[in-house]
Amino acid sequence: MKVLICDATAQAALDMISEAGIEVVNKPDITPEELLEEISQYDAMVVRSRTQVRRPVIDAAIKLKAIVRGGVGLDNIDVKYAGSKGIQVLNTPTASTAAVAELTVGYIFALARHIPQMTISMEEGEWAKKSFTGTEIAGKTLGLVGVGSIGQASGNKANALGMRVIAYDPYVTSAHGIELIEELDDLLTRADYISLHVPYTEETHNILDADAFTKMKDGVNIINCGRGGTIDEDALFKALESGKVAGAALDVYTEEPSMGHKLYTLPQVIGSPHIGAGTVEAKARVGTEVAKNVINALKG
Ligand code: NAD
Repeated sequence: MKVLICDATAQAALDMISEAGIEVVNKPDITPEELLEEISQYDAMVVRSRTQVRRPVIDAAIKLKAIVRGGVGLDNIDVKYAGSKGIQVLNTPTASTAAVAELTVGYIFALARHIPQMTISMEEGEWAKKSFTGTEIAGKTLGLVGVGSIGQASGNKANALGMRVIAYDPYVTSAHGIELIEELDDLLTRADYISLHVPYTEETHNILDADAFTKMKDGVNIINCGRGGTIDEDALFKALESGKVAGAALDVYTEEPSMGHKLYTLPQVIGSPHIGAGTVEAKARVGTEVAKNVINALKG
């Protein structure tokens, strides 16, 4: 049995799979053309978010039993079509939860105290003590849009820091220590920080749009460590320019990779290149879960 590793995966995971008697072919930079040509030989494939697994790849994958995604989002895989061909699609649902929740909380602090902007100012040789008066997060309200594993973990950490945490998620009936809000509009009017933790779906497409921004508190801060496409980026730009939104921290974008994004011309925007799950610990956990998924799928 043979597994094709299509995106960078921890060496420990590859070793675990080999030790289980499965041949590992590691091609973390495989091109779409090469993938299409070679996939027919494999019983399983491992991807992260780079490799696209659409119909042509699935049609060519005549031996494939499993597609294993290291990470959470399955937007790069045609899950329904794979299912119709009897191919299992497996991910690592909680391996990156702590990493993304910690980045979310880091961004709350960074927005409250302007940490990245102060660093730039210091690098530029300034001593701008008067320009960077911050605010405290204790007593402020964090509004979570989506309270699955990462939303809940972020909420728990924010609670421990003295924030009031509310959440809008029509698909859950309870959340530990977090007040569930029935209408998104109510969350928008109450929150000082709004943090998105939803998948990208038809329903969540631009869930924060121009209309949503008008309903928010003046001076609200926005965080998105969830998925791109959930914020109307032009509307966010205008809301930041007008001062309605005080700051935004973004890890994900409508189009990725996103170099030279217009939002980064605004000093009140801080962010990262979709690296929410990028910790040593999360990568190791993802690797272990990937290996277990491959072994279970191929060896039962
Ligand atoms: P999850 O499935 O545990 O939680 C998602 C939650 O969103 C669920 O509770 C669901 O009910 C809710 N939801 C769905 N549609 C909604 C809607 N229309 N309105 C409100 N809530 C809705 O997933 P998770 O592990 O918590 O991940 C959350 C997001 O973070 C996902 O989009 C995932 O892809 C993303 N993620 C990002 C990174 C990163 O590197 N930035 C890493 C891992 C996960």
